[in-house]
Amino acid sequence: MLEGKFFSSIDPTFMLITHSSPTILFIGGHDPTGGAGIQADIETAVAHHCRAYSLVTCLTAQSTQNVQRLYPQDRCDFLQQADVLLADVNPDWVKIGLMGDVDIALAIADILAELNKPVVLDPVLAAGGGRELAGPALVRVMNQRLLPFVDLLTPNQAEARRLTGRQKPQPAVERLLDQGCGYVMLTGADESAGSQVMNTLYSQTEDPYHLTCPKLPDVYHGSGCTLASACACQLAQHQTMKEAVQAAQHFTWRSLETAEKTGQGQHLPNRRFI
Ligand code: PLP
Repeated sequence: MLEGKFFSSIDPTFMLITHSSPTILFIGGHDPTGGAGIQADIETAVAHHCRAYSLVTCLTAQSTQNVQRLYPQDRCDFLQQADVLLADVNPDWVKIGLMGDVDIALAIADILAELNKPVVLDPVLAAGGGRELAGPALVRVMNQRLLPFVDLLTPNQAEARRLTGRQKPQPAVERLLDQGCGYVMLTGADESAGSQVMNTLYSQTEDPYHLTCPKLPDVYHGSGCTLASACACQLAQHQTMKEAVQAAQHFTWRSLETAEKTGQGQHLPNRRFI
């Protein structure tokens, strides 16, 4: 038996498992540019001195200009990878990004039901370059099966409209909170006209909490992943929700302020400044 051999060959003191860094399970897609997706999650976790576990939902063919194609994992393979990992480790928080297809989204719902850990969900419905990343069936599964598990949802304006079918921000947020999300941070960068970007944190019990920052001049790839992952890192470090979103917004802004144009499209965040 493989396990028996492995464990008998290691120093018994190693078996005293301790971990001091907060741990986050990132569930998302792989972006070969490194701007978005799992690589963005891991870079953000490292910058926050958190440990990242990762389950990859799909590979993608993409550049800094746009996403060309998604290659979702087989549902059974994905579930087996989750089973093996989660039989061993016990993450403090879960952060979910691009899911890839309905089967994987349903598998994620099963994992969350069993794991019973707090969740940040970035509902990635379209790429900044314009490519749709979630069709109507996946939007339905997100609404019905995933939102009830979510402690913090981080939609932009367009995602809030598509998730709820409601055109105005306030009714859309009310609907998302009614679906079971603890908090919704509605981000504003995708549709801000002036010199400031405003993100707002909503819940059913507290007044809306507005956060503003100066609008930066370029177009960025992976800003939403960075923000949601930074929120998960802050929350895993026991910050309150307001503290977490404020610190995460600051981290994201700095990563965009020092972003680099490495290809012919969007700038890539720099998450190595801490
Ligand atoms: N690819 C992957 C794997 C992602 O997770 C995301 C966003 O979360 C994107 C592409 C799109 O990123 P953006 O909207 O910043 O272009």
